[in-house]
Amino acid sequence: MRNVLVTLVAVSALVLGLAVVPAAAQNARALLQAADNAVGASKVNSIQYTGTGRISYLGQNFTTADDWPRVDLKSWSQTIDYGNKSAKEEMVRVQGNNPPRGGGAGFPITGEQRSTTLVSGNYAWTLNAQGQPQAQNDQAEVRQFMISVTPHGFIKAAMADPNATVTDREFIGTGRNLRVVGFTTMGKYRSTGEFNDQNMLERVVTWIPNPVMGDMQVEIRYTDWKDVGNGIKAPFHIHMHQGDHPLVRGMNFMDVQASEVKANVESASLTVPDAVRSAAAPRVNVQSTKLADGVWLLAGGSHNSIAVEFKDFAAIIEAPLDDARSNAVIAETKRLIPGKQIRYVVNTHHHWDHSGGLRAAYAEGATIITNELNKDFYERVVLVPQPRSLSPDRLSQFPFATTGPGPGKLETYRERHAISDGDQSIISYHVDGFNHAGDMAIVYLPKSKILINADMGPPAAGTPVANVSPNSVALYNNIKRLKLDVSQHVPIHGNPSSNTDFESTVGPAAARARPAGPEGQ
Ligand SMILES: [Zn+2]
Repeated sequence: MRNVLVTLVAVSALVLGLAVVPAAAQNARALLQAADNAVGASKVNSIQYTGTGRISYLGQNFTTADDWPRVDLKSWSQTIDYGNKSAKEEMVRVQGNNPPRGGGAGFPITGEQRSTTLVSGNYAWTLNAQGQPQAQNDQAEVRQFMISVTPHGFIKAAMADPNATVTDREFIGTGRNLRVVGFTTMGKYRSTGEFNDQNMLERVVTWIPNPVMGDMQVEIRYTDWKDVGNGIKAPFHIHMHQGDHPLVRGMNFMDVQASEVKANVESASLTVPDAVRSAAAPRVNVQSTKLADGVWLLAGGSHNSIAVEFKDFAAIIEAPLDDARSNAVIAETKRLIPGKQIRYVVNTHHHWDHSGGLRAAYAEGATIITNELNKDFYERVVLVPQPRSLSPDRLSQFPFATTGPGPGKLETYRERHAISDGDQSIISYHVDGFNHAGDMAIVYLPKSKILINADMGPPAAGTPVANVSPNSVALYNNIKRLKLDVSQHVPIHGNPSSNTDFESTVGPAAARARPAGPEGQ
């Protein structure tokens, strides 16, 4: 009897649910229909934008308070096929007159830097320098989602969500009223779009998952809408922010001006290469090697960590990439140094590929050692235990009370920080005269004379003087300034090497750079 009653209640709720469409959903439907009429979204099966502009390196700013380092887009094109959920973006980046301050792969750019990123359904890839596909299937979900926040994609995806809503919003002081449509797609991605009194989409605000920012805000402004034929309009100016947060004014990610937009282009859909279709899912791989008494290199991926044993505790230098990498590094440290709490995690600098695993270490109870320049951003943005809905991590799933006594702490310094038990020590030194990151530290282990650096080389032994990067020269100069007695270099990227090689390769480049260098020695 009880079961029957439950069923009856459930059925009548279902009937009611079908019969009563909430007013907000009805209004959203009418607005989206008008928006579709205004720009011809449902007539767009595929579209191709071509233009120029500028783009930035996300998470690679000089300090946490700076805008992203930017470069010019000598050319940019984006081709989208809505039916096949495929998109291809091609860029040629050049340094232009943009300041060479900050990081990013290949930044600052000499010559031209080309990239092609692709997605087709659940497959994503890029092309290497030889034009061969490189699987990036873990990126497919977000790339596919981003199709639904393109100018016409937004209207299509919002129309496909029966629960899309609309809300009026008055922009105080401007006298403008916009209507904001909200919808959810792919089961979890929430987007909002602002429509003006011409039913034109002006701005989209959404969120994508990011190891440092959590549900990272993305804002896209569409302006300069023009006719592109067959009753279809497209925006010729696209301006995008990524990673805005309460401590900054706005983080400019991309700005492009289209010279041409073509709707319903031939062969916009992509064929997934076999190598991408059959690619195995990337897995976290940690390989440890003993470097010295109580010191291990934790390698096996693109970024290394170093585990150090003290009398009463353990410490890790660098928690890079993301939660998965960090959890694996923590597990390996516990295996190598059993029974000792991981009390410290030493961070070289704030760039996201070097700080994406800090939250996992924080959740473990480790105190994070970093430059004081990072204090506000780490405490008030990165390490907050608020839920991360798009990609929950260890700290968001197992939070501790913000009022304490939470285990995690942040310890900051300006020039030098030491952890020591009288025998083993880890000393962080702030790096002077370095364009890559204003908060950069090199980390010295006096007992083993190991020096750890991020993004500063060393170059391979025998690299010609002309090819030694300014980053390695900065490392050289800082070693001399601090009078460090180094026997081995252990980089966060790449393999350990001897200081003898470093002296003979970088020494001549540093000598040559000295007279001309504005920073001098
Ligand atoms: Zn960096």
